[in-house]
Amino acid sequence: MAKMFNEADEIVLLNQDTEDKAREIIGDRGNHFLKRIEGETAANISACYQCFRCTNACPVSRYMDIKPHQVIRYVQLGWREALLQSSTIWVCLSCEMCTTYCPNEVQVAETINHLRNMAAHSSIAPREKQLALFHQTFLEALQHFGRVNEFWLMGTLNLKPGILKEKIRTGALTEEMALGLLLLRKGKLKLIPQRCKAMGEIRKLYRQERGEMD
Ligand code: SF4
Ligand code: SF4
Repeated sequence: MAKMFNEADEIVLLNQDTEDKAREIIGDRGNHFLKRIEGETAANISACYQCFRCTNACPVSRYMDIKPHQVIRYVQLGWREALLQSSTIWVCLSCEMCTTYCPNEVQVAETINHLRNMAAHSSIAPREKQLALFHQTFLEALQHFGRVNEFWLMGTLNLKPGILKEKIRTGALTEEMALGLLLLRKGKLKLIPQRCKAMGEIRKLYRQERGEMD
């Protein structure tokens, strides 16, 4: 019998009737989304039997509105909108603990990463705007330099809409500057970004991702 968290974060059991009803309402769309994600990620999502190990292993599951095992269940049911509107896809650290602990090799982290990219390319407004902007800036850094330069990353992020204002309001900017100065003094912060040697390969990957095949 499948288990899920309810809104109060309590475990509830889904009986077969409830599952059948959900599948009846969703019809082919659920199956289509499941097949699509499995095809694009090679993740064995159908094999998940809701054992919760991924959620128990996740260091940040308490901050997620849809827990890792629920993400997999939602994909099985085809609940695309709920997934792309979730905070989970932005809160996930890509640490891969969930994937490591899954007894069925479901590739939970890869699935969440894929959903995050789908959301970034969709018209759906991200639930976690600041984290979405950080994600976007991180990808821009990789596209420009093939690696991440922390000084460039934070400077560019701070120029994105609303970021600087929010950091000033919360005091995060002062903390960030103090940390930056400390790292600079210790020689751990490079002010000028260096390009990695494999830039050609990286740009090719970006072009392929955009559908501009060579
Ligand atoms: S650990 Fe694997 S099988 Fe268990 S709920 Fe998570 S994804 Fe499903
Ligand atoms: S990859 Fe994401 S979902 Fe998986 S354990 Fe890490 S933070 Fe949690």
